[in-house]
Amino acid sequence: MLQIENKDKFGKVIADALSKLEQTATDAQTKKRWVRAIAKATVEIEENGVFMTWMENDKSLLIWSQKSNNIYSANGVCQCRAFEQGSPCFHRAAARLIRLFMEAENVPVQAEEIPYLKPSAERKAERVAGIRIN
Ligand SMILES: [Zn+2]
Repeated sequence: MLQIENKDKFGKVIADALSKLEQTATDAQTKKRWVRAIAKATVEIEENGVFMTWMENDKSLLIWSQKSNNIYSANGVCQCRAFEQGSPCFHRAAARLIRLFMEAENVPVQAEEIPYLKPSAERKAERVAGIRIN
């Protein structure tokens, strides 16, 4: 079961993946196929996340395909027909998106989380020698 709660962060991961593809794709056809795979992966993760399990130990994504009734274990490789034919598949795209998302989740302090950059409700103004200091 996989459920993306931080949709903003997931959206950013997808945007990054697409821009990376833009820079690295070797030819237009491959690029087009990966764009399609990423788009399908996005939809599948959102709608069928219940059939997916992230395996942290080997950074793979288990996907139960209702269409073929097979379970695919995707990281860089896959067991589906598209992969056999050397084509991009949404399983691999999904595995990559989830891996990047998991890595992004572990990123240390982001600017918006630095406490002194945002007003705190509990903080009371202090006075030192009659001067308000915060
Ligand atoms: Zn596949």
